[in-house]
Amino acid sequence: MDSDKLHLNGSRLESSIRELGEIGRETGGGLYRTAFSQADLKGREWLKTVLHAEGISIRTDEAANIWGSIPGSIPKLPPLVCGSHLDTVPNGGKFDGALGVLLALEVLRTLKDAGHQTRHPLVLVSFSAEEPNAYGFSTFGSRAASGKLSSRQIRDARSNEGRLLSEALEEAGGDPGNLERAAIPPGALAAYLEVHIEQGKRLLRQRVPLGIVSSITGIYREQIRLKGEANHAGTTLMSDRRDALAAAAEIILAAEEICRLAPAPEVVGTVGMIGVTPGAANIIPGEALLTAEFRAATEAQMEHLLAAWDKALRRAAETREVKITRTPILKQSPVPMDRGIMMIAERQAERLQVPAMTLGSMAGHDAAHMASVTRSGMLFVPSIGGKSHCPDEESRMADILCAGNVLLHTLLVLDQSLDQSLDGRDEAREGAV
Ligand SMILES: [Zn+2]
Repeated sequence: MDSDKLHLNGSRLESSIRELGEIGRETGGGLYRTAFSQADLKGREWLKTVLHAEGISIRTDEAANIWGSIPGSIPKLPPLVCGSHLDTVPNGGKFDGALGVLLALEVLRTLKDAGHQTRHPLVLVSFSAEEPNAYGFSTFGSRAASGKLSSRQIRDARSNEGRLLSEALEEAGGDPGNLERAAIPPGALAAYLEVHIEQGKRLLRQRVPLGIVSSITGIYREQIRLKGEANHAGTTLMSDRRDALAAAAEIILAAEEICRLAPAPEVVGTVGMIGVTPGAANIIPGEALLTAEFRAATEAQMEHLLAAWDKALRRAAETREVKITRTPILKQSPVPMDRGIMMIAERQAERLQVPAMTLGSMAGHDAAHMASVTRSGMLFVPSIGGKSHCPDEESRMADILCAGNVLLHTLLVLDQSLDQSLDGRDEAREGAV
């Protein structure tokens, strides 16, 4: 069959979504397939059983990431990888993460059925523990795969219930004592692709079935202490006050305004926590403690945003005579996706007549870590109602297939276009035997 005409098997994909969606489902309908839980282990078993039945070879690495591979016709070419994660948040839905793994599975099955062998080995990956979890390590598997986790770092980590992460990891098939071995050396992969639900409403609003991700958001989080002066709420004249909470209110509104005025929709800011002391109706607040979080799609946006924020804090400190102390909690740079992959995906979407829009991902994903190891790209599927991390998380099958077919053909084009220098005719013939 002409590979240009290949397309995924929708009913097989739908039944795998349904089957996996039963694993970890509780009576309220939500999934509790949290990292390294019994349900997570069952989900992993399900995946391995399906891969095994397809004759796809399976490897579980030291971080308990599951890799399922079919060989390419030129064995020395590095593999093309696609996947995501199987774990969920507590009371989560059946699409976040799982969709990326199931689409990778469907791509492998489709190519096998068609008897189409790619030049590069084609590999599915299911990363461990992507979601924030009881052990305090989100994107655990992709962090380990990109060489950002060591055995020492996780040695004493325990869940809230006191279970050792190393024990949980071992039970899932990992090797906590040799976590460094899960790191993929640079150049060992040809590319990484991940399909994920959007978890927002931008695609829905534009009535577009496919998102091509340009970057994964950078996150800056800090704690801010505003110190004013506690005093009598009745006898202190307005002109004599140094009210820490009023100053906090001013900077909270400033954070909102800075983000609202930013030209990029991916620039967002939130003050999600605030505490006031002494905290009484008749005392002027002496101190306020809050957290501020900002997200942006590019380094330039983030710099611009933080400069404006800095200015707003200085102004509040000066006009309200409060002392402001800032403690950074998290500084994660935005991760641009590979432009070449984006362009191929755009062209394939056009060819398949799938309307697409380019957008920044405002949530973190495994692809953010994989981008430090290999060229990486992401495709988004609209989330109905913009809902995610809840049992109501849904996506339309027609949209899922649009993304899946663009994924399939993007992989096929990458397979033909990457590493051409290694593609000697003799090697090609040898590899095909
Ligand atoms: Zn996810």
